[in-house]
Amino acid sequence: MFSYRHAFHAGNHADVLKHITLLATMRHLMQKEAGITLIDTHSGAGLYRLDGDYSQKGAEAQDGLFKLLGALEKLDTIPEPIEDYLEQIASFNANGEARIYPGSPFLMQRLMRHESRDRLRLFELHPTDSRALMSNIAQLEAGRTVTVSREDGFEALKKLLPPPASATGSKRAMVLIDPSYEIKSDYMKVANVIQEYLKRFSTGTYLVWYPIIPRPEAHDLPRRLRTLANQAQKPWLNATLAIGRGPGDEGGLVASGMFVINPPFTLKDQLRKALEVIGPALARGNGKEWKVEASS
Ligand code: SAM
Repeated sequence: MFSYRHAFHAGNHADVLKHITLLATMRHLMQKEAGITLIDTHSGAGLYRLDGDYSQKGAEAQDGLFKLLGALEKLDTIPEPIEDYLEQIASFNANGEARIYPGSPFLMQRLMRHESRDRLRLFELHPTDSRALMSNIAQLEAGRTVTVSREDGFEALKKLLPPPASATGSKRAMVLIDPSYEIKSDYMKVANVIQEYLKRFSTGTYLVWYPIIPRPEAHDLPRRLRTLANQAQKPWLNATLAIGRGPGDEGGLVASGMFVINPPFTLKDQLRKALEVIGPALARGNGKEWKVEASS
């Protein structure tokens, strides 16, 4: 179960899509005064070295973040969500070179409001990665506003949703569900969790990352999520990015999606503008397919 290590994949095309969607969603949610509970059910280690052993083996950031950076040099204007993403990464890298890649826990931590209004709850099961995450987060001295638990993120939601009411009485939460899908049952668990929480806390914003691979469960997941959101009469958005396979590219993930339930109304337009740039920038061979669909 524990063969997956996100360090091999940090900064790849899937992270680019996932983290841009995450940041754009959070930026919108943070405009409201009321505090919010932020949950990352599958957190990873939090920080990754892009010049370290793990990332060098896959060199996946070369086909993701670094390729995007190269393509942007030729552009006069950069869409806001991409700019925000790159600024966040730059803030972890003092000398202008991207050596450190911030994963979802750190991106979320950077955008949360720190006057004890927001809470960040992080879950990671891998023994090494959860230890790394705990030590990375401890350095922030964030106190009880940020917690890390070595627990099953799917199960942990039971204790956290619905979230406590904020000072203004409203209950707000955003949940990132980003499993590694190493085990087939992850697909079913994601759908079950969404089904359950659309009943127990239907106003939450749920972001689900999923791989696009030739496997029936993977194919079915976005369809099931769409059906569940439609049944609950909740708005949804589905953004996908496929980079294609060039000659000589073997194996490896080439496409993924982000399914968002209760997305900000601004997200569709923002992601379209971002993917118009990212799609061609990361395309290999016959790649460059991207799509942003949303409920009407
Ligand atoms: N969300 C991270 C990011 O964007 O930076 C990446 C997470 S990675 C794709 C998935 C992580 O989930 C892995 O580190 C894996 O060890 C962990 N994991 C697998 N099953 C889990 C579970 N049931 N609960 C919590 N973490 C789990």
